[in-house]
Amino acid sequence: MPASPRRKSSPARTRVPKVGFVSLGCPKALVDSERILTQLRAEGYEVAPSYEAADVVVVNTCGFIDAAVDESLDAIGEALEHNGRVIVTGCLGARPERILARHPRVLKVTGPHAYEDVVGAVHEHLPPRHEPFLDLVPPQGVRLTPRHYAYLKIAEGCNNKCSFCIIPALRGRLASRRIDEVLREAERLAAAGVRELLVISQDTSAYGSDLRYAAAEWRGRPFATRFIDLARGLGELGVWVRLHYVYPYPHVDEVIPLMAERRVLPYLDVPFQHGSRTVLKRMRRPAHAENTLARIRAWRAQCPELTLRSTFIVGFPGETEQEFAELLAWLAEAQLDRVGCFKYSPVEGAAANTLAAHVPAEVQEERYARFMQQAAAISRQRLAARIGRRLRVLVDSIEDGVAVARSEGDAPQIDGVVRIPGVTAGGRARLRAGEFADVEIVAADDYDLTGRLTE
Ligand code: SF4
Repeated sequence: MPASPRRKSSPARTRVPKVGFVSLGCPKALVDSERILTQLRAEGYEVAPSYEAADVVVVNTCGFIDAAVDESLDAIGEALEHNGRVIVTGCLGARPERILARHPRVLKVTGPHAYEDVVGAVHEHLPPRHEPFLDLVPPQGVRLTPRHYAYLKIAEGCNNKCSFCIIPALRGRLASRRIDEVLREAERLAAAGVRELLVISQDTSAYGSDLRYAAAEWRGRPFATRFIDLARGLGELGVWVRLHYVYPYPHVDEVIPLMAERRVLPYLDVPFQHGSRTVLKRMRRPAHAENTLARIRAWRAQCPELTLRSTFIVGFPGETEQEFAELLAWLAEAQLDRVGCFKYSPVEGAAANTLAAHVPAEVQEERYARFMQQAAAISRQRLAARIGRRLRVLVDSIEDGVAVARSEGDAPQIDGVVRIPGVTAGGRARLRAGEFADVEIVAADDYDLTGRLTE
């Protein structure tokens, strides 16, 4: 499920930018290629199967021996001939003069292991079609993710028919990637130093249903292309695994024991969207008939540490004061840790536009404020309960002597942070981005925590 149904669609956005990729060289270069492709895929780019189908081609080169240099220069020439728009990266990129002497038309040359620069060059020459409603990464997500976490896209498209959404029309039906392909990509990312994988797709719990849960092999063992096997496989990698866009279907219950054992993070991002069954029915939401409160209670009984994040829409067409009150009552009962909320706005082409009784803007505004006030109060209370506890955190950055980190309960860019002041001594930081640290929580506000190192 995407972040928000706020904006209108336009035909221009239906064109998915396509990147061709040629990867030469050693396993290290392959890891870089993987990292670049993972990032681009998460941002909504498609990988083109041929030069002709690509809007731009990235050639990841090798410059180790003369034969490899020749092969790389030939590959660049071939890409230029068949496509014309070429970005060069990799080891040969350390000697741009050699490339430019033979191929002055290349758009950009970036150096080895500089995946941020390559992705930046792709953005420059083929801008991502960033659209909060359609994209799975957060609005800020086109900014490059730090090296220590990566979005892992497991599927494209969606088989649901939510009435406010046009993704199935734009992106097509669910198309899952086979589990061995996904697990191998995840394995390489972990080997390259990624500490946290964020699993994304439009409907993560439906993963593999389009492939009839195809069987595959990974690490010499059988896996099915399905949600629970994916969680099990990723849980073997020794990195944080965070599951996004999971619908509350009964089979999701199976993942909770893995969370209790910390094989995957005890964190679920479930886009509930509303708490009133009649509104959910009008929204045509998957799992709208499920008793979600009972499900949440059962999850928490099994895994008390579970952090639940969700997004909601207020002011959906026809939403009555009674239905909105049901939503507030639902939220009070559900006690979700992290909550995002949007005021409904029509998306061109969505079925919900034809529903009667659109809620006036001022009523939407007022409901939004009431909803957020209640959500903030719940968040404040739940975070305050963490004061005095010891938590493992992952450091994202060091800013003015303060480490900005996240606990198991905080997804990057959409949830809160754990600030750890005083981590610089004698001009040197005691922590670095990408490191884990153990802290004791000493303070909390509505959304964020403050901790101090416990050594
Ligand atoms: S149809 Fe529903 S489940 Fe599918 S992408 Fe749209 S909002 Fe998400």
